[in-house]
Amino acid sequence: MRLLVIEDDRDLNRQLVAALDEGGYAVDAAFDGEEGAHLGETEPYDAIILDLGLPKIDGLSILERWRRTDIRTPVLILTARDRWSEKVAGINAGADDYVAKPFQMEEVIARVRALLRRSAGFAKAELECGPLHLDTRSARVTFNGSPIKVTGLEFRLLSYLMHHQSRVVSRSELVDHLYQQDFDRDSNTIEVFIGRLRRKIPGDLIHTVRGLGYCVSFAPGPDGGDKRGS
Ligand code: CA
Repeated sequence: MRLLVIEDDRDLNRQLVAALDEGGYAVDAAFDGEEGAHLGETEPYDAIILDLGLPKIDGLSILERWRRTDIRTPVLILTARDRWSEKVAGINAGADDYVAKPFQMEEVIARVRALLRRSAGFAKAELECGPLHLDTRSARVTFNGSPIKVTGLEFRLLSYLMHHQSRVVSRSELVDHLYQQDFDRDSNTIEVFIGRLRRKIPGDLIHTVRGLGYCVSFAPGPDGGDKRGS
């Protein structure tokens, strides 16, 4: 899952990026409204954290512009604590949730996590695919109740596939959503990580759909996808 943080307070921006990175997300940062609006329009983020008070273009205008142009990315706005009208204006402009400053990082992370799973159609924090469970709160993966050890990037990959389970996800989509902007991307590494996950997770739940991509599903893959091939 890839996120964008738009916040002009450099310290706060840095703290948000660090906390979200620690929480298992790929994170890009923008420090003014112009840069943020542009990134939100051109990069495929899974959710955006948007401060309302920003230089160049304010957060509310950005949000209105995005929603007018049908950009539906879930947006969490950061508002001033004592301005209830700001929260209302933000929600009316198309924000999905808000956090008032000053906030605890844990609250931001919990709200982002909830936005991501709701936009993927899940109500619970624990995602299930048959015997395979992924807890988005603790970043734990279990199979029939037994823990499976995964690295940060393996978790990110599995989490993305499980948020979009039963749908075929292409390698280029995975690259877009697993790495931050400045990362040296190589779609071949995706195949390597898929291979590692397959060796760790029993049950043939990660299917390869030849020429299209990958699909996590408890049922056989769409159009009888080849489970073992790469
Ligand atoms: Ca600000």
